[in-house]
Amino acid sequence: MPAESISADSVPDFRSTNRPVSRVAVLGATGSIGVAALDVIENLNRCDPDFAWEVSSMSGHSQIDPLIELAGGCHTPPKCVVVSDAEMEAQAAKALKTASTQTNSRLTERCRLDVGPDALVRAATEKDVDVVVAAIVGRAGLESTLAAVHAGKRVALANKETLVVAGPVVTRAAADNGAELLPVDSEHSAIFQCLAESRARQSQFATAKQPNTAADPSAKTHWPGVRRLILTASGGPFRDWTTAQMREATIEQALAHPTWKMGAKITIDSASMMNKALEVIEAKWLFDVPADKIEVVVHPQSLIHSLVEFEDGSLIAQVSPPDMRMPIQYALTFPRRLPCPAPELDRTQGWDMSLCPADPDRFPALALGFEVARVGGTAGAVVNAANETAVDLFLNGQIRFTDIPEICRRTLLDHDHESSPTLERLLKLDVWARGRARELAQI
Ligand code: NAD
Ligand code: MG
Repeated sequence: MPAESISADSVPDFRSTNRPVSRVAVLGATGSIGVAALDVIENLNRCDPDFAWEVSSMSGHSQIDPLIELAGGCHTPPKCVVVSDAEMEAQAAKALKTASTQTNSRLTERCRLDVGPDALVRAATEKDVDVVVAAIVGRAGLESTLAAVHAGKRVALANKETLVVAGPVVTRAAADNGAELLPVDSEHSAIFQCLAESRARQSQFATAKQPNTAADPSAKTHWPGVRRLILTASGGPFRDWTTAQMREATIEQALAHPTWKMGAKITIDSASMMNKALEVIEAKWLFDVPADKIEVVVHPQSLIHSLVEFEDGSLIAQVSPPDMRMPIQYALTFPRRLPCPAPELDRTQGWDMSLCPADPDRFPALALGFEVARVGGTAGAVVNAANETAVDLFLNGQIRFTDIPEICRRTLLDHDHESSPTLERLLKLDVWARGRARELAQI
């Protein structure tokens, strides 16, 4: 929904006022989260009384035309567009040049083109960048996210795979460099918001100054009074399907998510519930809690984005319509709350909010996620790589839907687990696990 959805009467337009500028690098700008983030930034630039908001750089991988179009549509066009697929350089240079002469694009010749995977790191660490939106899909987002963390930026983290692959490395780097790792994933944003119960703790979290207890399993949780983090799952398109039905599932059926419109990889992950498995691992690292303090419940309406259960049995939930612009904006403006272009929950109608237990027998990926969260170490990198490979194979029609969790499970079993791996070891294992997953799929 465009920014016009907010009534001009209720939200003054601050664009002409002299405000300090908050500069954002949007990595993965052409994706579902990236486009939503650009909408949020345009809206904030209009309605934030304290800051002007600008996109300083934005990236896409190989979809040049959407990238240039999005850049040209920004109120203040970015200084740099990044094309991470180096093979697209010539096409990108041509498209940028053409756009800078067109009246329907705000791009001028001052906008630079930077190309290749290293360009993502340069964009993430640019001196004047305040916030990095990490919205690249998969392990491909790891280096730029980690670079932003090392540079002490605020990172609005959508790219959950970065934490799944290298959670301890990333959270330790955030603590060491004073980076703010703020969740965009709606469940983790919800938990983060629910933990506002303990405000002092929350601000401590936001400045990432907590000691890292990952290395010390005996250390107590940083969230006193919290009994459990409860992640909700829509259940995806196969929520009520039997395993036999899922065996025959087509690509189109798996891509037909009932409540969220997202990129293809996360949509398949939602159908297999591997997305929730990855989110259990993400929650473990992000909130520094053991796996047995995390629970998953199915909530088909996607209105309750997650809950926190406290020691006295009280549950606090975060509720909003399923629209990623809300958690994206919260990660950008935290701790401030401002009008958001996401729609309000329509309270003129009745609404249902049902919760039921998840079924790990029909969704074996879920049990795998808890196991990986429990053992930590190299398991996250291996399961992530196997899953990315299996999802690609499924989307190419080369394996069945139900092969995805099985390939992940067997790849995990075949690897030599290490509890405190270096980043280098994790990256090597990522390559190994992709190969092993393909072998297991007999491709
Ligand atoms: P998407 O497929 O719509 O977009 C992915 C983006 O990454 C695109 O800009 C693409 O150009 C870029 N990209 C792809 N391969 C790349 C590569 N090899 N190198 C560099 N860039 C590359 O994905 P999405 O749905 O926007 O998801 C992005 C991330 O956010 C994922 O990690 C996903 O799990 C997470 N997330 C998404 C949602 C959602 O609602 N879409 C919700 C929560 C979390
Ligand atoms: Mg999520």
